[in-house]
Amino acid sequence: MDWDALQQSVASCQACGLCKSRKNTVFGVGDTQARWLVVGEAPGENEDLQGEPFVGQAGQLLDNMLKAVGLSRTGSGAQGVYIANVLKCRPPANRNPQPEEMLQCEPYLQRQVQLLQPKIILALGRFAAQSLLQATVPDVASTPLGKLRGQVHHYQGVPVIVSYHPAYLLRTPHDKAKAWADLCLAQDVARRP
Ligand code: URA
Repeated sequence: MDWDALQQSVASCQACGLCKSRKNTVFGVGDTQARWLVVGEAPGENEDLQGEPFVGQAGQLLDNMLKAVGLSRTGSGAQGVYIANVLKCRPPANRNPQPEEMLQCEPYLQRQVQLLQPKIILALGRFAAQSLLQATVPDVASTPLGKLRGQVHHYQGVPVIVSYHPAYLLRTPHDKAKAWADLCLAQDVARRP
């Protein structure tokens, strides 16, 4: 599937029950030529309404963090990022994604990575980490996020850096310094030839 076909396939997806309650699918946003791919968890209420990832309060924090390393969702090339989620549809009442929903939705992210060929993937939060690292870190589901940080993992040959989800950072500002260190590591890896 090419990018357009993939987008259409997501827009009409009925692989799990989330299609019944969604207002919009949320495929992703940003420059498809970007070196960075940021992966979050799932759309929330605002994202479901607007059809774009990270447009709420957590999204504002994410935009500010990216800006601090010279990146933005509206930038292109070396200044651009692509932002997507593991789930393309909103779980009702923002509950956690269920294993079956992740299983059904993961092929879409997998194909997005194949087509985007980013230099770095920044995985935000435990569901993004679980989805991207399940093949290489067998006990990822029971590993605290803090233990997955600070190392370079791989997904389909692309380096992956794990960091805290911005919604968590809004509740736990004390950990913002660690998230900054994660961004710097990701920047360092993205610049490697
Ligand atoms: N949280 C996410 O993980 N993704 C979004 O798009 C919005 C909030």
